[in-house]
Amino acid sequence: MNTTNRFVTSINCMDGRTQIPVINYMKTEYVAEYVDMITEAGPNKILAEHTNKSAIESIKLRVSISTEKHDSKVIAVVGHFDCGGNPSDEETQIQQIREAVKIVEGWNSNVEVIGLWVDAQWRVNKVSPQFTPVSIDKLIEMKKL
Ligand SMILES: [Zn+2]
Repeated sequence: MNTTNRFVTSINCMDGRTQIPVINYMKTEYVAEYVDMITEAGPNKILAEHTNKSAIESIKLRVSISTEKHDSKVIAVVGHFDCGGNPSDEETQIQQIREAVKIVEGWNSNVEVIGLWVDAQWRVNKVSPQFTPVSIDKLIEMKKL
């Protein structure tokens, strides 16, 4: 029996620095062969604010190709440190990721939707729906105090 997810999906920023970390994370965590990349400038902001309808329709169309043609069962919504398209602070961006996850969940009933935060070290942190994750940097900082 093949338990591998052949394709998974990422709604990522277009920022070149976030591509490989997110691809590697998704391939490892979800045992995927390929990661379909849907990129925008600050997609967490676009989805959470829900004002740019044409951008949202475009994301939705590409997600449907990934879930229908590639049978993807996991979709990640990504936000990251130093985002040109979304200059909000980390706390705001993480809240936007949570809101964006809820919106994408509304499009797909049989798909797992997760939020990812790419931190200042370009490490990928899973965003919990309930509480703010403590990044590795913050943990190190806290232990020093
Ligand atoms: Zn960005």
